[in-house]
Amino acid sequence: MQWSVDEIAMLRETTRRFVRERLQPLEAKIDADDALPVVLDAAIRQEAKALGIYGFNFPLSLGGPDLPTEAKAVIYEEITQTSMPLVEALGHLPLTLAYCSTTQRESILAPVVAGTKLITYALTEAAAGSDLSAIQTRATRVEGGWRLTGSKQFISNAETADFIVVLACTDPTAKLKNKLTTFVVRQENPGLKGMTRYKKMGWRGYQLNGFSLDDCFVPDEDVLGPVGEGFLVMMSCINTDRVFSGYRALGIAKRAQALALDYAKDRRAFGARLADHQALQFMLADNDVELKAASLLVKEALVLTDQGMHDARIAASRAKLYATEMGCRVVDRVMQIFGGMGYMTELPIERFYRDVRAFRIGEGTSEMQRLQIARHILSE
Ligand SMILES: Cc1cc2nc3c(=O)[nH]c(=O)nc-3n(C[C@H](O)[C@H](O)[C@H](O)COP(=O)(O)OP(=O)(O)OC[C@H]3O[C@@H](n4cnc5c(N)ncnc54)[C@H](O)[C@@H]3O)c2cc1C
Repeated sequence: MQWSVDEIAMLRETTRRFVRERLQPLEAKIDADDALPVVLDAAIRQEAKALGIYGFNFPLSLGGPDLPTEAKAVIYEEITQTSMPLVEALGHLPLTLAYCSTTQRESILAPVVAGTKLITYALTEAAAGSDLSAIQTRATRVEGGWRLTGSKQFISNAETADFIVVLACTDPTAKLKNKLTTFVVRQENPGLKGMTRYKKMGWRGYQLNGFSLDDCFVPDEDVLGPVGEGFLVMMSCINTDRVFSGYRALGIAKRAQALALDYAKDRRAFGARLADHQALQFMLADNDVELKAASLLVKEALVLTDQGMHDARIAASRAKLYATEMGCRVVDRVMQIFGGMGYMTELPIERFYRDVRAFRIGEGTSEMQRLQIARHILSE
């Protein structure tokens, strides 16, 4: 369904106002406390729901609003103008839920779409990050379900998630595509043990956890997707998630550049505005071009992903690689333009610098994107 220009403009305006007036003022405290209070998180989710943003990336078949690509692009552009824990509360939901069975649609999908229950993914382990074929967590068949044993690390918000989708090995002898299965482990499961929290550089208020699965029983009705196809289940949302990473890095970089433009026009050195010094003009110009290039790449990847095109995978890799690396370059230049002030916590530049870095690692590192792109262009 096509939206009119006016409808798109109104969506942008509503989302923008919510992000700038309600969310941006919360950022500094959440970062300083390294905490987004549960009550505030829940309130923001419901406010996002009321605005029609929550689950904006979901099709009608999953209980989403089935927005046209143009509307999704506007939401991506606007919601990424706030910090990581707050973006997370706005309900970009995992498309792997398309694998939910009829019972799971009721017990898992419905509360996740309603924003009353939270979900996360646990793939990474000590010996398996980029290389998921090395996953050691084992799921053994028992009567009525499976018993999971192993441990996971760097898992987003595992401590607060109601559902943790765990990727575990069900057939160690099989190749990657048939070796793994996805299981929904519920927070109250007694086999979920030893939840730890990492201290980290950025994304403060958004927790990364480690945990163990100690003979953890998962009933058959909590297996997500076909047994042995866990890798394919997880990969079903990888393009969308990579596009989202690209948009998130772009959002931070855009905010940094906007601050730099104002500062360069205001601050004076050697009798002139910073903006009159050519060295700084060049930094601003480089930022401008890189921001534009990243915008085009993420938009193209979003369009192809949304249309389910074959080229979406490579487009998403290109967009993720370029936008996340661009984000680091742009924020670094902005810090330079601000001089000492950029390094101080009074301004959000140092937070942008800390936050933007993670995108080159999560959702497939830059090197993994380069590998995919290289394989693609060499095989053509
Ligand atoms: C902020 C953040 C949030 C995260 N959230 C989650 C989450 O919710 N769930 C989850 O499961 N995981 C999560 N992760 C983990 C993340 O997915 C992994 O850290 C990432 O996939 C890299 O794995 P690794 O850390 O084991 O690094 P490794 O795979 O050990 O890689 C180390 C380095 O070697 C490079 N490398 C590895 N193999 C090759 C190769 N063949 N060629 C070239 N270079 C190579 C990598 O690119 C990297 O630079 C998160 C990580 C971060 C930082």
